[in-house]
Amino acid sequence: MTATISPTSANQAISRLHTDLFIGGRWTPAASGARFTVENPATGAPLAEVADADADDARRALQTAADHQTDWAATSPRFRSEILYRAYQLIMDRADEIAAVMTAEMGKPLADARGEVAYGAEFFRWFAEEAVRIGGDHTVTGDGNNRIVVSKQPVGPCILITPWNFPLAMGTRKIGPAIAAGCTMVFKPAELTPLTALLLTEILTEAGLPDGVLNVVTTTDPAAVVGEWMGSGQARKVSFTGSTEVGKILLGQAAETVMRTSMELGGNAPFIVCADADVDRAVDGVMVAKMRNMGQACTAANRIFVHRAVIDEFTEKLTGRMRALVVGDGADDATQVGPLVEAKAVDKVATLVVDALDRGAGATCGGTRPDGPGHFYPPTVLTDVDPDADLMHTEIFGPVAAIIPFGSTDDGSEDDGSIDEVIALANNTPWGLVGYAYTRDIDTADLLSTRLEVGMVGINTGLVSNPAAPFGGVKQSGLGREGGRLGIEEFLDVKYVSRPIP
Ligand code: NAD
Repeated sequence: MTATISPTSANQAISRLHTDLFIGGRWTPAASGARFTVENPATGAPLAEVADADADDARRALQTAADHQTDWAATSPRFRSEILYRAYQLIMDRADEIAAVMTAEMGKPLADARGEVAYGAEFFRWFAEEAVRIGGDHTVTGDGNNRIVVSKQPVGPCILITPWNFPLAMGTRKIGPAIAAGCTMVFKPAELTPLTALLLTEILTEAGLPDGVLNVVTTTDPAAVVGEWMGSGQARKVSFTGSTEVGKILLGQAAETVMRTSMELGGNAPFIVCADADVDRAVDGVMVAKMRNMGQACTAANRIFVHRAVIDEFTEKLTGRMRALVVGDGADDATQVGPLVEAKAVDKVATLVVDALDRGAGATCGGTRPDGPGHFYPPTVLTDVDPDADLMHTEIFGPVAAIIPFGSTDDGSEDDGSIDEVIALANNTPWGLVGYAYTRDIDTADLLSTRLEVGMVGINTGLVSNPAAPFGGVKQSGLGREGGRLGIEEFLDVKYVSRPIP
């Protein structure tokens, strides 16, 4: 693709950024004047100072969104579509700059950041196309006396909250359908990665988004800012991506005003390698499902169940691939594995690995925390992980592949009950976002697709995320879907008009 971006050009891009709040089309400091520092996780170096909003700023932002809702809802679908399409093109034109900023604040290698730019931009193109396809329905009552005319309307001012792990795509996945549907919004990006969101805000302005439609608030006190919004009665919808823990708080707050919710929460993905799997493909798949974003993805393969008939071959090949990965600063083009996002994240991963090792697991690579600057943890493969180990019940959110054997040591050609066994293991979790399975047998694939308690299944693939697909989970992984044809529905209310037939 394009040439390496040097840290200098990332810093240049960041130094040109607006770092205030964005309310009513204006960049404005927090009323208190407070600011907070954004750091580079690879070096600990400060990158920028960003406005630190409080509840008063939050109130101002939501009031602005509410004031603009009626006018924005009255714009034509084509007008909204064209803004999104222009923003898609601007993101692609500035892909290198956005990737450099994202890598600097979040740590992922530049190649991954560029991948996220393309993925994130695609939500705008997808919803540019959806904006002009919002449908309705018409029927006649059974007695023939009345028309039932069903139309869709924007739900109203929305609260959008995103995590740090995909700083661009989690934003475009929410802002895209909100714009397409005709909703105004307040948007709070994660405090660890606000810079990509601020760059995105500049791009939307350049694309012609009218003042007051998108209002962006950065803060180190999300409970105060979001609490203000949730309790205001002015917002009609909250779309949240983040941890199940915070999602539950928001669901409780949403109940007070019966607010619509979309919740994209945590995961604990099973990755199943059956006895008849193509082992090389399964290793390719787990490298994606486990190592994308250094394992810091809700879709990350958290529990890798491998049939005993193929476990030795799988473990050896996976260990070879993990050992060969180049760990370093994501801004260096050679880097394949960047730092974790903050020191706390490394503490958590290291503690989970120690617990698994204490309970009898082995480590065929990695497993020890390195010294030195930056929040690094090495690619690690753990074998014979005890099903009671803490990492089986916690999102690891790090580059640790935990292998759990199932089935018997024979070749699995007879029905040995291993598929039932692994389905029970996989479903033994309160989460249900995604599951992956590798098998050559279509009936086994069908059985796993049906019985895994998840919102998404990858059969012989380690990547399910796509703007054209309905992303989301069941159980404690969330409510609602983002992307695909369902994505825009989350931002639309149904209105039925009854009219007598003359
Ligand atoms: P987090 O829940 O700590 O934070 C997410 C967002 O919520 C941030 O913007 C944060 O500032 C805000 N927040 C924190 N406390 C809040 C409060 N009391 N009230 C309102 N907002 C609050 O999650 P994180 O650490 O940023 O992200 C990692 C989590 O996100 C993981 O659990 C991961 O699985 C999940 N995630 C889910 C998806 C998905 O689509 N299902 C995608 C990416 C990440």
